[in-house]
Amino acid sequence: MATIAINLKDGKLETDAPRDLIVGIDLGTTNSLVAYMKDGLALAVRDDSGKSALMPSVVHFAPDQSVLVGVTAKEKLVSDPQHTIYSVKRLMGKSYKDVRDFEQYFGYQIIDEDTDSLVKIRVKDKFFTPIELSAEILKALKLRIESVLNQPVFKAVITVPAYFNDAQRQATRDAGKLAGLDVLRIVNEPTAASLAYGIGLNQDDEQTVAVYDLGGGTFDISILHIHQGIFEVLSTHGDTFLGGDDFDRAIVDYWTKQNGHEKDSLTGDKSLSQALRLQAEAAKKHLSQHPVYESVAANGMVCRIDRATFETLIEPLVQRTIEGCRQALHDAKLDVSRIDHVIMVGGSTRVPLVKSAVAGFFGKEVFDKLDPDEVVALGAAIQADILAGNQKDILLLDITPLSLGIETMGGLMDTIIPRNTKVPSKAGRRYTTSVDGQTNLKIAVFQGERDLVEHNRKLGEFIMRGIPPMPAGLPKIEIHFILNADGILKVKAQELRSGVEQEIEVRSQYGISEEEMGKMLLDSIQHAQSDMAIRALLEARNEAQVILLSADKFLRQNESILNETEVLAIQTLAAELKIAVAGEDKDKINAAMETLNQYSAPLAHRAMDITIAEAIKGKSV
Ligand code: ADP
Ligand code: MG
Repeated sequence: MATIAINLKDGKLETDAPRDLIVGIDLGTTNSLVAYMKDGLALAVRDDSGKSALMPSVVHFAPDQSVLVGVTAKEKLVSDPQHTIYSVKRLMGKSYKDVRDFEQYFGYQIIDEDTDSLVKIRVKDKFFTPIELSAEILKALKLRIESVLNQPVFKAVITVPAYFNDAQRQATRDAGKLAGLDVLRIVNEPTAASLAYGIGLNQDDEQTVAVYDLGGGTFDISILHIHQGIFEVLSTHGDTFLGGDDFDRAIVDYWTKQNGHEKDSLTGDKSLSQALRLQAEAAKKHLSQHPVYESVAANGMVCRIDRATFETLIEPLVQRTIEGCRQALHDAKLDVSRIDHVIMVGGSTRVPLVKSAVAGFFGKEVFDKLDPDEVVALGAAIQADILAGNQKDILLLDITPLSLGIETMGGLMDTIIPRNTKVPSKAGRRYTTSVDGQTNLKIAVFQGERDLVEHNRKLGEFIMRGIPPMPAGLPKIEIHFILNADGILKVKAQELRSGVEQEIEVRSQYGISEEEMGKMLLDSIQHAQSDMAIRALLEARNEAQVILLSADKFLRQNESILNETEVLAIQTLAAELKIAVAGEDKDKINAAMETLNQYSAPLAHRAMDITIAEAIKGKSV
């Protein structure tokens, strides 16, 4: 199999010349990390101490406006919670309305000036968008890898949860841009995790996998079907407020009670409760390896817990994730026996009880050989490497993955740039008006493979105004699609007779994941037959409408040269055509059109001859 790598910037085929490094980034709610390919292996970049590749997704703003990111910022959660921002991923692409219900979860201030616009975060007298804050985390990751590799990095693949919508994906992409990164792909986290385990790299493999991701504050379960390089998300389920943080809280509550305090009685002291939380987290991690944890807190409280107690505390939480798995299987309409592999992702899957519960539910051993913290970033690095054209035997095309076109009469998709065209690319087509004196033309731009625009994805629309009034069919409207290397589509419409011109910019690929793309392609194949039939019907109807309009016009303009029988015949045939158009049978419509055409053609010739004769006569006078 050939490797085809196309440079997104210049659209040229890549040669064996040195390529830009593309890094993989897991931008997590709790922790983020960056990875790259070294000697054919994905490698997560560790911090200066060399101990951990995780960078806490925490940003702190110091009084002098300097910004801290990572471990040092996480420490400020205790000493300066007001100016320390965590879990910003939860706010990506969200409006205040979306987050109002769990506002108290955040220790910092979220701004609600306009409930429908995207949220902002207030830090002292400054306002930040979640995009800017995520960009700070990305900048820190970029710096980390640049200093390790001693070379600048400009390109990245960033992962997002499978359920992220357009706005959230777009926000992630924008954060990358703001951090000085060209985001070549947004990849779903479960897809990246599968890639890290080599699943999907062989195009002939067909597999169904469950990706169980239990992080700090979120739980996601995704069921993927992988075949021929297409990662299809069959279902996702989860809980956006369930994760390792809840385990920590359970431990804090337990210690509080053990020491004779009322539940939540210590929360008034923000520093103490944060310190206890961090200690509980340390205890939890310790218990993943050892049977008992014991230490003394800053206030003298004895903090002791054994593994059995811990497991009793978290059992109900773990059960909730198992219910999520059951639901995801149900939504995917799959029996548990149909799952080929179960992949463990997220730091909290290190908890032995979590592992055994998941293995028990799926009835098989889970994939946990790779570091569950790193697996998503490692997969992102592999995806990046594929994009860079370094992985042999993988068909990789940097091309527009879905067709781009506009809506024409009857809701039909008229493709202007077909899928698999390499970018950048340019194409145009000529259209005209369908009604006499029409001065406006709506141009709606769609992306997808289906014949009807309603099944495709709308990218945008604009109205071309100021077309000089002319009989239907006379204006020459040229529509150009210009797709640049970043996947941004420019649509230009120009009426050639008058020079009237308009232009819009549409973002084409943004917000569509590989999986969605794959799904849309599959859809189009599965529906090709029915689509074709509908297309034929709609086309027949469109054509009939044009013929009916011109028959009507012909009758009005040529009253004087037609006899009564001829007028009546045309009217009857037109009425029959109208009835056919109202029906569903394209053959009937075509037949009625044919009859009307055959009858009126000689009459039209006669009318033309008379007009020409009159014109000549007129001239000679
Ligand atoms: P996210 O995807 O939300 O960024 P991570 O996958 O980095 O989160 O997981 C972070 C969570 O994993 C935290 O709650 C952390 O305490 C927990 N965790 C990390 N290591 C361990 C361990 N050894 N045992 C138990 N939990 C752990
Ligand atoms: Mg994660």
